[in-house]
Amino acid sequence: MSAFDFDAVVVGAGAVGLACGYALSRRGLVVAVLEKEAAIGQGVSSRNSEVIHGGLYYPTGSLKARLCVEGRRRLYAFLDSHHVDYRRCGKLVVATEPEDVPRLDAILDQARTNGVEDMARLSGEEARALEPGLRCEAALLSPHSGVFDSHGYMLALQGEIEAAGGVVVLSTPFEGAAPLEGGGFRIRAGGAEAAELTCGLLVTAPGLAAQAVAAAIKGFPHLQIPAGHFGKGVYFRLAAKAPFERLVYPPPIPGALGTHYRKDLGGQAVFGPDLVFVDHEDYSVDPLKASEFAAYIRKFWPDLDPADLTPDYAGIRPKLHGPGEPQPDFQIRGAETHGIPGLVALFGIESPGLTSSLAIGEAVADLLSLSEPA
Ligand SMILES: Cc1cc2nc3c(=O)[nH]c(=O)nc-3n(C[C@H](O)[C@H](O)[C@H](O)COP(=O)(O)OP(=O)(O)OC[C@H]3O[C@@H](n4cnc5c(N)ncnc54)[C@H](O)[C@@H]3O)c2cc1C
Repeated sequence: MSAFDFDAVVVGAGAVGLACGYALSRRGLVVAVLEKEAAIGQGVSSRNSEVIHGGLYYPTGSLKARLCVEGRRRLYAFLDSHHVDYRRCGKLVVATEPEDVPRLDAILDQARTNGVEDMARLSGEEARALEPGLRCEAALLSPHSGVFDSHGYMLALQGEIEAAGGVVVLSTPFEGAAPLEGGGFRIRAGGAEAAELTCGLLVTAPGLAAQAVAAAIKGFPHLQIPAGHFGKGVYFRLAAKAPFERLVYPPPIPGALGTHYRKDLGGQAVFGPDLVFVDHEDYSVDPLKASEFAAYIRKFWPDLDPADLTPDYAGIRPKLHGPGEPQPDFQIRGAETHGIPGLVALFGIESPGLTSSLAIGEAVADLLSLSEPA
């Protein structure tokens, strides 16, 4: 029997924290996931595109490249086995101007290097044969991209953690932790019934709060906490019939994949997200942005009636770079960087974090097995 209250504590019940809890449960650990909100998945995981990414764009050798492809494969299998809704609708990356066409070739090369299966290069006519109404010079088809029910996914993860004897504790903010002599941690949790608990292993997956949570762990070197930035993106919904079946993405913009089209699981067309750096959490959607969105969308869908665009929702990416700076990789930090055995801290889990979540969980569990207390 463990000397601790829990074998492992995970901070944050978003898709990534729950996937970490699931991975640790699968390895036989009893896990407590602490969540400050009154329900799971209220953070970044409920304000995104719900796209299962193929893994096309990410630089060779990066965690994003490896974990997106592995995570996508794991995710489809998990959704199947847990009866969670998804649609493997495929995605078209479109070059709307002749000068964008060479970018498609570079993306295709990168996708193949990343191990993305079954990619195809299409002419404009071939793309229009799939999606009449689409305007483009050429396109790439990524058949394994899709959309899914991210909340159903998170509920299934919670169910797995609980079935393995673990708990997901809501309305319970993590307030701090101190390493114990001989291994493990003492955790301070707040909420209606503030409490202390002990655990052998600690994983922090608090999304936008990654920096604040790391700073509340005694002994975490401040120089190892990367600067965080908020990358806001807004969405507009179409008040008309969805024009395409597949996802449609122009080539990426600096710092993000850019505003794209998706038909969600409810059959509605949604456009977004753009990227604007903000200094606090602000989820408002400025209706005046509709004209900017319309101009962008009409490059690949000239039939759009701008009057059909209605403001929808906003999300904020937990970024590790500011405007104009190169987009860094996910950070999955074990004892080799911060010097605290038994702790893994996650930073910068922006897109494709949902797609990668199961693979991130496995990577975290692998890292911890190297530093698990005896
Ligand atoms: C606009 C946008 C579009 C995106 N689109 C996609 C996409 O289509 N596909 C894709 O793969 N990825 C996408 N992403 C990325 C993806 O949404 C994230 O990578 C992923 O949801 C991050 O999950 P998480 O669990 O790390 O964070 P979160 O979901 O934010 O979970 C962190 C949790 O920690 C909790 N928490 C914070 N502090 C504490 C504390 N002190 N104590 C206890 N709990 C705490 C929060 O309440 C929250 O529930 C997108 C992101 C954005 C913003």
